[in-house]
Amino acid sequence: MILLDGKATSKAIKEEIAAEVNARRERGLKTPHLAAVLIGEDGASQTYVSSKVKACERIGFVSSLIRKPSSTSQEELLQIVQELNEDDDIDGFIVQLPLPKHIDEQEVLLAIDPSKDVDGFHPENVGRMALGLPCYLPATPYGIMQLLERYEVPTSGKNCVVIGRSHIVGSPMSILLSQNNEPGNCTVTLTHSRTQNLESIVKNADILVVALGKAEFVTGDMVKEGAVVIDVGITRVPDASKERGYRIAGDVDFASVSEKCSFITPVPGGVGPMTIASLLKNTLQAAGDKRN
Ligand code: NAD
Repeated sequence: MILLDGKATSKAIKEEIAAEVNARRERGLKTPHLAAVLIGEDGASQTYVSSKVKACERIGFVSSLIRKPSSTSQEELLQIVQELNEDDDIDGFIVQLPLPKHIDEQEVLLAIDPSKDVDGFHPENVGRMALGLPCYLPATPYGIMQLLERYEVPTSGKNCVVIGRSHIVGSPMSILLSQNNEPGNCTVTLTHSRTQNLESIVKNADILVVALGKAEFVTGDMVKEGAVVIDVGITRVPDASKERGYRIAGDVDFASVSEKCSFITPVPGGVGPMTIASLLKNTLQAAGDKRN
């Protein structure tokens, strides 16, 4: 079994980006600038945004964090998005999801200039991804594709099963892995909460991408011998033995599944760090050949 080490791989990617930032400076090109908008006080969102901002600082990007209370109105948020769209110094920005219930997420995502949409959530980028055109790939699927590529995991002709059909993970994963690309060229089955006989479908998977948000849902008896297992899940499970009162669990029972598979991502240290590295790659792409 080979561990798909997202921590080490993302570190390597960040070093490559940092070198690129230095090379850009020497050529008189602009230092990439990522902005993040955080609405409300959700603990997990605060953690995600602060790791993104810290990652920017470490690799030499400029970063801006715009924090607003959960009482922020949709109009105020749309105004912030508009200002970021128009600010030439900002190459890319993200609006951290989920947003408070009174804000229409779709309307906010639609208002983002697709050329600054480094999360890859705007319909224009999603459509371009589906057609295999240049675009910003959504960060988590992009990170998984890079892990598969860098570990040279064979994908062509393989049976791939994706569990979960969210717009940010499951659905784009199913599209990317079915495309005529390397990695790619899989025969993909996308499964979800209404899927019947999930276990028998999963048992056929040469490559299994698990993104349903249920701790340790996939167990060793469900997985084919030699399968490649990508665990996207991040769930806080109460654990009194930990100082913070919880532990982070994936959607895969690592102990039983790792005994059967050829490659597996750990949680933490697998897909999570790759997501941030991909966001940084998208921001570098957004800065393009702009000059200071
Ligand atoms: P989501 O919560 O939006 O949707 C879950 C999906 O799972 C749905 O499509 C649903 O149909 C499916 N599902 C639910 N129960 C099922 C069942 N019993 N059998 C089959 N399918 C079932 O999903 P999401 O936003 O993609 O998040 C999934 C998990 O991945 C969460 O734990 C989330 O925290 C994590 N996540 C991690 C990263 C990362 O960077 N590592 C990024 C995004 C999401």
